Amino acid sequence: MVGQEPVVRTLLNALITGRIAHAYLFCGPRGTGKTSTGRILAKAVNCLDNREGEPCNSCNICQAVNEGRALDLVEIDGASNRGIEEIRDLKEKINFAPNTARYKVYIIDEVHMLTEPAFNALLKTLEEPPPHAIFILATTESHKIPLTIASRCQRFDFRRLSQSAITSKLRDICEKEGIRADAQALVLIARMATGSLRDAENLLEQLVLHYGLDVTVDHATEELGLTSDHRVRELAHHIASKDIAAGLALISAVSTDGIDLRQFNHALVEYLRNLLMVRAGAQDAGDFAAEASAEINELAGNLSLAGLAKAIRLFAQIDFRADPHSTLLMELALVDCALNMEMAGTETKKPPTRPRTVSVEPEPVCEPACAVSKTAEAPDIQAPPQSQPAQVVREIQRIREQWSGFVDACRGIGSSGKLDALLRGACEPLSLEGDTLVLGFYWEFQRGKVESPEYRSLMEKKLQDVFGVPYHVRCVLAPKNKNVKSNTHASNPVVSEALRMGARIIEEEE
Ligand SMILES: [Zn+2]
Repeated sequence: MVGQEPVVRTLLNALITGRIAHAYLFCGPRGTGKTSTGRILAKAVNCLDNREGEPCNSCNICQAVNEGRALDLVEIDGASNRGIEEIRDLKEKINFAPNTARYKVYIIDEVHMLTEPAFNALLKTLEEPPPHAIFILATTESHKIPLTIASRCQRFDFRRLSQSAITSKLRDICEKEGIRADAQALVLIARMATGSLRDAENLLEQLVLHYGLDVTVDHATEELGLTSDHRVRELAHHIASKDIAAGLALISAVSTDGIDLRQFNHALVEYLRNLLMVRAGAQDAGDFAAEASAEINELAGNLSLAGLAKAIRLFAQIDFRADPHSTLLMELALVDCALNMEMAGTETKKPPTRPRTVSVEPEPVCEPACAVSKTAEAPDIQAPPQSQPAQVVREIQRIREQWSGFVDACRGIGSSGKLDALLRGACEPLSLEGDTLVLGFYWEFQRGKVESPEYRSLMEKKLQDVFGVPYHVRCVLAPKNKNVKSNTHASNPVVSEALRMGARIIEEEE
């Protein structure tokens, strides 16, 4: 095991002292060795010639595991077998004694993907495990594991591997397999793999398949799409300068050129991370190649820590599994972070302290009648656009109340299947004009997409399904005022009373 010393040490100790748990929870990013560790553990607990906790790798049992034919090691992929069937099957068979080994070991990979009934069935088993059973639950998303399950497991956290650990492991592999690789090529691969040894191994294998046993920097640069390196830096610039149009064009060009979006995104996250390290003072820009260091220094200086953290989070959480070729998720992340990113130096900018007029709008959860009377009672507050007839007010109120449910119902709609993603957190129902529902979008990007004839007609159809009314849809731009901070209410008794009654501030003017 590479780079997981704390995990290995604890497990070895448990093996040596014979304190083996019945259930383990292995948490950590993909490619960090969770499943491999599970298999090693399966060998170690069953090995006929176990030395100091380590499996011998030559007895019958070790060999059977290595060759993937061990009857007493059952691997279940939670991602593809989400259903109850496998767990039920497991429950039925678990009480039978192991075939040849001492312990029956069950590895459930991506366990967070199991459905609720499957989790419940698993829980029953974990509550009273037979003495011969060991469970290893592996997950990349530990927060999705029900507490009832997690609390019955001994938890191990697998770390992302450092670039140097990956590089040295790659060097070992090259030596063993007779691959002649430039040191710099291995560094490039390690950088691309962002902490996942499995990704690094796959990339190396891919290079050998294409270029044979001589792996050079040029091969690596070409194969890994690092010719797009400058575009990664360009995109970071666009993010920093909030140039959404240029950023969107760049993402589209990268995709058109057939560059693997996942790898491109990886590289972007890695680059932003470098900026973060430099910005936080944890790393010196001089640690990077000379030509890059000036640029990194400059960009890092232009960005706030909060902004960088936000950008990294947004791009790092993109899950390309559903559709590796869709640019939409990257586009959304770009727009989201360009709009939310605060530039360095603007972080301390204070909102205006004493507004002249304040517009207040009733909370959507209010009953329509009381909402109207509340705003009416507060004389100094501008009436919201509800100078509309009470009928209409009630109707728009109903739409607002059910809006999040409606957005959920839009999942899977449209050619990309992501209409819900375009709507969620991006707009709100503003008003009704006759039978036309006016949607206020905070950002032009989403407004433009949803306003397109394809999405608009799909929305109108769904509105009819959900609300039973044949609404038309009009999408307008209604940016949220970012500077609205509710500290004004403290100084203005009318506003504060309105807020107390459930109103919310939507706009302030100086
Ligand atoms: Zn053995």
